[in-house]
Amino acid sequence: MLMLQHTCYLLACLFLILSIRSLSSPRTAILGNRLGILGILISIFAAMSSLGLTPLLLSFCTILLGAIIGIYFALKVKITALPQMIAVFNCLGGLAAVCIALAAVLSSSPKLFDNTFGMIIGGIAFSGSIIAFAKLQGLMKGTPFHFRFQHFINIALLLMVVLMSIIFIFHPNFYLFFAMTFMVMVLGCLLVLPIGGADMPVVISLLNGYSGWAAVGIGMSLNSQILIIIGTIIGSGGIILAYIMLKAMNRSVINILTGGFSGNSGNQHLSSNASIPNSASPQDAAFIMENASKIIIVPGYGMAAAQAQHSLKNLATVLHDKYHADVKFAIHPVAGRMPGHMNVLLAEANIDYKDVYELSDINQEFSSADVAYVIGANDITNPSAKRDPSSPLFGMPVLDVEKAKTVFFVKRSLSSGYSGVDNPLFFAPNTIMLYGDAKAITEQIVKYLEQ
Ligand code: NDP
Repeated sequence: MLMLQHTCYLLACLFLILSIRSLSSPRTAILGNRLGILGILISIFAAMSSLGLTPLLLSFCTILLGAIIGIYFALKVKITALPQMIAVFNCLGGLAAVCIALAAVLSSSPKLFDNTFGMIIGGIAFSGSIIAFAKLQGLMKGTPFHFRFQHFINIALLLMVVLMSIIFIFHPNFYLFFAMTFMVMVLGCLLVLPIGGADMPVVISLLNGYSGWAAVGIGMSLNSQILIIIGTIIGSGGIILAYIMLKAMNRSVINILTGGFSGNSGNQHLSSNASIPNSASPQDAAFIMENASKIIIVPGYGMAAAQAQHSLKNLATVLHDKYHADVKFAIHPVAGRMPGHMNVLLAEANIDYKDVYELSDINQEFSSADVAYVIGANDITNPSAKRDPSSPLFGMPVLDVEKAKTVFFVKRSLSSGYSGVDNPLFFAPNTIMLYGDAKAITEQIVKYLEQ
């Protein structure tokens, strides 16, 4: 039986590693998902194969209940709310680690270090993810939350947790462990609270990584190789993604670990005497596009909110087929509300991968473009990131859309993006605002182009 269990674990690991490999390209991503599901199913089967009848039935019932709740939410959740769902997953992963660690300590488990490690990382993932969820869901303001002595308090809390962990390992005591759990959860909240909206992608990836490392700690405590392996895959995946996001946003690791990237609070509003931006109708936009030979489309969160990806595909097709324009899509690494958000939506609309470019590959092309069609995007084009050291966005590479001859901004108003920072580009002489819903405006432009 043990032999079968270990063979299953080995198979499951193989599938999970192949799954991660396949997920690295949009072409093989669906296969990657299937391999991942298979890997997890095999590991659940292997883990349950060694259980007696009562724990087997109990596990089966809880898994079934969890699966029903999970499937219900997965079917119900809108694609724009996926980041919140990921925050909830991270939160539950962290909570599971904390509960298992508490149960292990209560039952006098000798694995004191492993339980403490799992609880600390799991606790931070749990409470940090609750704050991340609240910010993403709009229950809390996305702007950074700062208070006096914030870094001092964070470091003091961290040192106290480390000290208490050492005491606990030498003199195990449930009440001490419980107090530590509480402090870790406070620390998790304090680490995420000061992080502004624009920097949330790094936090989400990081919390995802934390929930994986918490599983590793618990896997060590329970002597479960499969939990250690899966935890390591999730943990390293999250850390690698956080690193990619950090590089993309030009932020430093130290700032994340101490909580908060910049001392600025966002909400930098345009001066009241700012001039009125140029605006036009979809018909005017169609006329300009008809005469353009190179068009770069920049999708952002509003494109996802309006579900305008299929209309964008029609726009690209008519511009290419009828007007022989060179049409490209520019994707910023933090566009939308989750890593890869725009890539997923463009792939859903069957937009050819070869027309989709990353920021570093397309940025130099804006100067030779006739039109930049910025649809539901804001922060990822904000030039304050390049010019204004007091801006919370400062330092983040952005798409140089202003270098195109004409820049269309499709959005419903002049309001700011997720970071809460207003965009001075709306007032540039070569910018034209197209006010309205991203999908409706794009459909109207397509209609005029087709006529
Ligand atoms: P932004 O949030 O900066 O801007 C989106 C714009 O879309 C808004 O200004 C809004 O303007 C407009 N909009 C909303 N709904 C519609 C609609 N139906 N039709 C037309 N326009 C609409 O998005 P970006 O993609 O430019 O930038 C992403 C931001 O989110 C960054 O700050 C990033 O750091 C952050 N973030 C990213 C995550 C990720 O992993 N990618 C995760 C968490 C945060 P209006 O209301 O006027 O229409």
